[in-house]
Amino acid sequence: MNSDKREAMFSRFKAANPEPKTELEYSNAFELLIAVILSAQATDVSVNKATRLLYPVANTPEAIFALGVEGLTPYIRTIGLFNTKAKNVIAACERLCTLHDGCVPEDREALEALPGVGRKTANVVLNTAFRHIAMAVDTHIFRVSNRTGLAPGKNVLIVEKQLLKFVPKEYLLDAHHWLILHGRYVCLARTPKCPECSVSDLCDYKPKTVLKEAQVAGTSGAAKYARKTSKKKSSKKPSQAKKKVPSKVAK
Ligand code: SF4
Repeated sequence: MNSDKREAMFSRFKAANPEPKTELEYSNAFELLIAVILSAQATDVSVNKATRLLYPVANTPEAIFALGVEGLTPYIRTIGLFNTKAKNVIAACERLCTLHDGCVPEDREALEALPGVGRKTANVVLNTAFRHIAMAVDTHIFRVSNRTGLAPGKNVLIVEKQLLKFVPKEYLLDAHHWLILHGRYVCLARTPKCPECSVSDLCDYKPKTVLKEAQVAGTSGAAKYARKTSKKKSSKKPSQAKKKVPSKVAK
């Protein structure tokens, strides 16, 4: 993908969604940090369900540490890997209390030293809570970057570096959210929705999906999109158009 296409891609993402946001619910850096730790290999929806119950009861490092693993577990039991996550969250809260005065550090090294926090989680917190330029590469971003040719790479670290290098500067702060949302809702892992994709003409992926007859006639997102587009092109019914021709000819 060349630089003109990269510029066009993000310009379209921005036009469609000028202020993209994470789908995790949080009200400060600490709540975001815990939500991101809990979201590893889990959906944002499942994490939000848990934190909606947890945060009204405990939303500071001190309060969650006071719950202990046994007190925290019932709130996060519905999230995958909850046993490990409960231990990590309590250990992270203890470290925040003892080393950082109960605050989330605005520093990569200190973040990555917290139990349960790796490079991706640190990048999300730095970018989303502190508005640093940082690129958290999750499964969606990895796929979209490689498929489209935007920032190809064999592993997440290479893709992260490629994105930081190739995403036009003015879009770097929000690129993470645009790419995640695009991967989550349009460029799906098994069957990307190429006919609905706003950047289809810019994307290098060759075996693009096409609308099948069944989809056009059915109720899939692609079919709805096709119907919407065809309505815009011609709002008149063919029968109405036919009726007007003879009357004009008669005049
Ligand atoms: S055209 Fe298809 S493969 Fe390319 S970004 Fe869009 S959905 Fe993904």
